[in-house]
Amino acid sequence: MNDVKLTGAVGMVHSTESFGGADGPGLRYIFFMQGCKMRCKYCHNPETWSMDGGTPMKAEEAIEKALRYETYWRNGGGITVSGGEALLQIDFLIDLFKVAKSKGINTCLDTSGNPFTREEPFFSKFNELMGLTDLFILDIKQIDLGKHKELTGFTNENILDLASYLSDNGKPMWIRHVLVPGITTDEGDLTKLAEFIKTLKTVERTEVLPYHTLGVAQYKKMGIPYALDGVTPPSKEEIAKAKEILGITK
Ligand code: SF4
Repeated sequence: MNDVKLTGAVGMVHSTESFGGADGPGLRYIFFMQGCKMRCKYCHNPETWSMDGGTPMKAEEAIEKALRYETYWRNGGGITVSGGEALLQIDFLIDLFKVAKSKGINTCLDTSGNPFTREEPFFSKFNELMGLTDLFILDIKQIDLGKHKELTGFTNENILDLASYLSDNGKPMWIRHVLVPGITTDEGDLTKLAEFIKTLKTVERTEVLPYHTLGVAQYKKMGIPYALDGVTPPSKEEIAKAKEILGITK
């Protein structure tokens, strides 16, 4: 590892999970990074929003922690970085994935895509990170620009641009879509999303994540008004319809 050049960036890690089974192939050690600029109405981790807080960690130390679980990483397992929004700490991510790749560890980045821009200095850093990332998990929260802004506080042009950029560069990705009744269940929107996903050449999997209310207590605790009060999880029929439109067979 001596020949791995690192920036020495310190990552602020909100929490970790030793046996993540959903965020990438196999079992994975997951780093949930502190900080996110979006304000998705259904976010179940509002405690990750603040850019303050978290536990400081350097890449080597983080990989050392993850490696304790290496024996469970058969079937394509490895590490995943999630959030919050991990791309807000891109210098740390580059260091982390550099160390990981030097040890042959599979790397996955779970992102909302919100920080993505083709402007410098971000773009060059992103290109470096992209070369170190085996799989991207990209949330597309709403295909409709206006509804996306209403749902998250931001528009989605750069997020869709990120998806196209990953596709153009041959990077494998999973697309995720949280299904919220009345907000992301419109069949016209889902059809547009399906059409957009068809333009991408490297999508290995599309997933529908049913909205749930597990985060509501956290809002109360933090004194933040919960915008989706009264919204219930989607019905089996709504989930089945969304999967059908998005061409998800299982
Ligand atoms: S992008 Fe993720 S962490 Fe950020 S507000 Fe949305 S759901 Fe929450």
